[in-house]
Amino acid sequence: MSRFRAYPTGEQASIMLNHCAHARYVWNLAVEQHSHWYKGRKAAPGFAEQCRQLTEARHDSEWLRAGNADVQQQALKDFTRAKNARFTSGFGEPAWRKKYVHEGFRVIGTDRVAEFEADGSPKLNAKGKQVMGRSVVVQKLNRRWAQVKVPGCGWVRFRLTRAGLPKAKTFRVTFRRGQWHIAFAVIPEPIDAPATGDIIGIDRGVKITAALSDGRRLNCPQLTVRERAQIRKHQRRAARAPKGSEARTAAYAKVAKLKAREADRRKDWCEKTSTMLARTYDLVRFEKLNIKNMTASAKGTVEQPGKKVRQKAGLNRAILAQGWGLLRQRTEHKAPGRVEDVPAPYTSLRCSACGWIEKNSRKSQAEFVCVSCGFTCNADENAATNVAAGQGGIPRPRRSAGAGGMTAATGRSSVREPQPTWVGIPLS
Ligand SMILES: [Zn+2]
Repeated sequence: MSRFRAYPTGEQASIMLNHCAHARYVWNLAVEQHSHWYKGRKAAPGFAEQCRQLTEARHDSEWLRAGNADVQQQALKDFTRAKNARFTSGFGEPAWRKKYVHEGFRVIGTDRVAEFEADGSPKLNAKGKQVMGRSVVVQKLNRRWAQVKVPGCGWVRFRLTRAGLPKAKTFRVTFRRGQWHIAFAVIPEPIDAPATGDIIGIDRGVKITAALSDGRRLNCPQLTVRERAQIRKHQRRAARAPKGSEARTAAYAKVAKLKAREADRRKDWCEKTSTMLARTYDLVRFEKLNIKNMTASAKGTVEQPGKKVRQKAGLNRAILAQGWGLLRQRTEHKAPGRVEDVPAPYTSLRCSACGWIEKNSRKSQAEFVCVSCGFTCNADENAATNVAAGQGGIPRPRRSAGAGGMTAATGRSSVREPQPTWVGIPLS
């Protein structure tokens, strides 16, 4: 995907906001339609049937008819794709889209270009005729600016921040926190491995975003103290302004702008760091984290309220501000097949010199002193070295109570018996 900031004129922006509204409406209709399905009922309508229904709906509703049919149909196409990928995408069932939050629509290119097979020969259909594919219409204006055709608004200008014009079949327009973006559906070219045989281990943490096994510590940029103070100031002003007043909207817009800045910095850092990793190392190993489980709320239920809910919420925010998931994902995109996950248990407690696993070795957040061999190291670096070696600890065998049952773990001492030989791994 290559994404650019778009700068539509006021008139274009209002037309595009209308497109967003139509796409959202059609998407939500599809979500609702599919939510009525239950076991034993006939399958919910597929894409073709939905398109037929859309034509009917456009016939009945003047508001819908005033919009662009392609934009509405592409919303259905997006829905179908999301529905088909619900078990693999990580997003689950397609969900309801909200105004001001999920503003966007997809545009399918209007240009026709000849399609080719992987070996370079022209793609032919069953009748032996050339297959023509779609392509978006993009034009370069000068070194910094280009423009793209958006239905109903003509040419929309966008800031060209990469070399070369994107070649794509479709693109998606989004409006978030007051900014328009155009994302072309392009699969990035994988970066070639340097072929040096270098392996790097990465330990992700809250204090140090990414500790590398070569001793480097990379930090994801956050908002400055001053910027955070400004956010609080505007939030306070918003809270004190009367409901629905202009002052309140303005204050919230300022908060959103600052938060957008934080997200932009994080994304930029993840892109640059993942490119660096893909270029410099043959194999990149991350410790396996389940960020979704790690950032689960501690709120509990009404009957059983959780403990330290605010503290956990703060920690969750800190975890999500590090962009752990994005870094892993983008590295995988740029270096397909060269990224590995190492099981996380004990990577931070295991001595990277002798393999001894002991809780007491971790003296503090930053300090690691092996109880067994006396090896001293920064705790994050120690963990990263373990990750690079592909070694966490081997999880303890579960104590089963026969027939698949489990006994609860009882009081366990951190002082363990000398470990069998598997703990020692060659670290040459
Ligand atoms: Zn040791």
